[in-house]
Amino acid sequence: MKTDAGAPAELRELRDEVKRGIDYRAFYLRYCPEARQNGARLQSLCPIPAHAHSGKGHPSLSIDLQQGLFNCFSRDEGGDAITFYELMHGVSYARAVRELARDLGLDGRKGRRPSLAARAAPDAAEVEGESFEPLDAEQTAAVCSRFLEICRAEEQLEGTAYLARRGIDAGTARRAGVTYFPRRAYRRVMRRMSGGFSVETLRRAGLFNRREHLTFYHHRLLFPFYVGGRPVYLQARTTAAGVEPRWHNMRGHVPALYNADALDKLPSGSVVYLVEGFTDTLTLLAHGFAGVGLVGAGGLKGEWLAPLGRFRVVAALDPDAAGRRAAARYRELFHARGLSLAAIELPSDINDLFRHHPAAALELELLTERALEEVDGGQGVD
Ligand SMILES: [Zn+2]
Repeated sequence: MKTDAGAPAELRELRDEVKRGIDYRAFYLRYCPEARQNGARLQSLCPIPAHAHSGKGHPSLSIDLQQGLFNCFSRDEGGDAITFYELMHGVSYARAVRELARDLGLDGRKGRRPSLAARAAPDAAEVEGESFEPLDAEQTAAVCSRFLEICRAEEQLEGTAYLARRGIDAGTARRAGVTYFPRRAYRRVMRRMSGGFSVETLRRAGLFNRREHLTFYHHRLLFPFYVGGRPVYLQARTTAAGVEPRWHNMRGHVPALYNADALDKLPSGSVVYLVEGFTDTLTLLAHGFAGVGLVGAGGLKGEWLAPLGRFRVVAALDPDAAGRRAAARYRELFHARGLSLAAIELPSDINDLFRHHPAAALELELLTERALEEVDGGQGVD
């Protein structure tokens, strides 16, 4: 559409750039400093002047940090960040776009570029849709191995400290292949990756975006998944407070239970715990227990259970309704494969237990023994 001498097209382009570059959390907090964060949402009293709220009562403004959308329930008005800016400043849409662009250093003058964080942002889903075949297992393993190797050459201190605060020692993290790189190494890591692979390969792996930047900018604590001794998938966590989403993954699917590959060395008949999350898995390993973790969305897959067949598996999930429901569901999945699953209920999640109770290991062993007896008793009756 070329109307008004091309101005709308230009404006649309600038609007898209604003939306790519904006940090929604920082933007909305500027107007709602008292907002409370709940997952990927902010709740706040609504500051929109035309709404003329009393400033008392319940927060009526809800903000979706992922989409950048706001909604005031009380006046039934919502929209995107640009609309919010319009309402807050009483300006036109075009002026809101231009002022926001200027704030972000995107005012179209030559030599002004979006921030590094904006250039590193993963491609939006619709852009990915345009896209490529996933890499085959061989190429994926090569990319993962090299990425970990390059990151491992960087200072690990901040990553190690982050894990230590959660009771996970450096030796355990190293054995599990957990790897970190500091933000100041971002460009170097990116350069070294692009030195080793074509941009197309790196984009197909989800490591690079269409701006040819490494997408692991906020998320630099890497948790590799190994199959047959080789890393074939990575999930990465931010170690900073307030970054949403907290996780960023390469492309592809979670290939197995986390840490399942390490079970190869374990004697048959050993006790293996099934837990949720990286932290609980690594906490168990740090205290000399064997564990595998269910991480990320999508749930437990039947085909992941085969390697567990020769062990005595004990579910140790969170002691709440969701944990109990999950344990019941997993037990059915195990049963469908002719396996049994014992379940224990701890007074708190595993990480809390080991951080706050000196006798945590003993308590875990006692509960485990009782749960395994129950399973064995149950089998006797069959
Ligand atoms: Zn309002």
